[in-house]
Amino acid sequence: MSDTATAAPKAASRRALPRITEVNAYFWCGGADGNLHLLQCGACKTWIHPYAARCPKCRSADIAPQPVSGRGHVVGFTVNAQPWIPGVEVPYVVAMVQLDEQPDLRMVTNMPRTPIADVHIGQRVKVFFEPNPNDIFLPLFEAE
Ligand SMILES: [Zn+2]
Repeated sequence: MSDTATAAPKAASRRALPRITEVNAYFWCGGADGNLHLLQCGACKTWIHPYAARCPKCRSADIAPQPVSGRGHVVGFTVNAQPWIPGVEVPYVVAMVQLDEQPDLRMVTNMPRTPIADVHIGQRVKVFFEPNPNDIFLPLFEAE
């Protein structure tokens, strides 16, 4: 077993923070209320992520942020062992999580509270938020 597979979960690190705009504030700052917020189409109820100005299913512009369950499962992951970003500890998991609301509603995230050796395809996960300056709440996931 490699060092990567046995590494302990990483604590909060010095991540690059997103630039907040009118278009993305619902996603990056929405965690202040403890919920993950994604766009939903008012016409056909399709969940939309990442941001789009129109619904990809029915083309309606009637879209608005709504809270989601924040629960899903891991559909893919990799372990980054390269120190690409100064100040960010390695190794860490980059995971693709499929949310429960819709089969194609997926997001890329990190799982810093889950031991790397425990992460697996199909693993049930839930969101948590890493608060940062400027009211940014980074959505991250951990094992349920
Ligand atoms: Zn729609």
